[in-house]
Amino acid sequence: MKQTNLSIFIPHVGCTHMCSFCDQKSITGERSAPTAEQVRALIEEQAAHLSERGMIAEIAFFGGSFTAIPRGYMLELLDTAKVAVEEFPCYTGIRCSTRPDCVDEEVADILKRYGVTAVELGAQSMNEEVLLANDRGHTAEDIRRAAALIKQSGIELGLQMMTGLYKDTPERCLETADEFIKLSPKTVRIYPTVILKNTRLGELFSRGEYKSFGFDETVELCAKLLRKFEKNGIRVIRLGLHASPEVEREMLGGVYHPALREIVESRIFLRDMLSRLAKLEKGYHLIYTDPRNISKAVGQKKCNIKALAELGYEIDILPLNGEYLLIK
Ligand code: SF4
Repeated sequence: MKQTNLSIFIPHVGCTHMCSFCDQKSITGERSAPTAEQVRALIEEQAAHLSERGMIAEIAFFGGSFTAIPRGYMLELLDTAKVAVEEFPCYTGIRCSTRPDCVDEEVADILKRYGVTAVELGAQSMNEEVLLANDRGHTAEDIRRAAALIKQSGIELGLQMMTGLYKDTPERCLETADEFIKLSPKTVRIYPTVILKNTRLGELFSRGEYKSFGFDETVELCAKLLRKFEKNGIRVIRLGLHASPEVEREMLGGVYHPALREIVESRIFLRDMLSRLAKLEKGYHLIYTDPRNISKAVGQKKCNIKALAELGYEIDILPLNGEYLLIK
């Protein structure tokens, strides 16, 4: 059965900080926080659609700092979700995202009591200078502590990281990934920085005091990150912000592409083809791969075929069920 999230965005309401990159309203595309009644109505409406399509979903409170919203409101939302999970077989659990410094023992206890199945921590970086420069208001130690509390409560841990923040470097991103791996999250989301209007990053960018990583640099970096996490059995469940008209309207710079993951996976495929081809004679080769890999192998606008041709390898790519990469 296909698993999805029923995402319910709880905007900036709970957050006492203003991170350098955050214009939460643009990111979530929402202007006001939903009431418990509105959430219930959405859950009921979506239950019918999910059942029709034979799908299951987790009820996911995303978009802000869920565990920092007014406690009564948080409990109302959790109660609504818990009742729905008990009532509708298509709902299999509850997820939320929050700040690392908004998880303590009491909060972890509440989440467990309401049957929360996964918590995603907006960690963004494990580098202290990057955290400080981007007004995160918490340390790497806060991330470690919150991650440990979540895991001790038997709740699935997810971590979110950003690339290309103010004072960030690709090396620091790779170190962040290594630190994440030590915390053994089940899932990771990677968000290359998008520079939005009405944010401090936007001001720094407009004054020429900051520029994020370039597109190609980000693709290379994300290819390394994706590989690193997957090698360690950690699922990367998102790469890049969701396509949204609000973000497109409000962005000043940074890296945003609706097909970013496909582009990154295609770059990984190019690297793999290259490392195998490098051991062979230049000239013509046939490459076989499973049909589901073909578009990645070819690349957007045939970029991988062209890149290999420039290096002296003329290739054709053919389907072969179950094969990752076979070169003849
Ligand atoms: S903690 Fe999250 S919601 Fe709050 S300002 Fe930072 S990114 Fe925005």
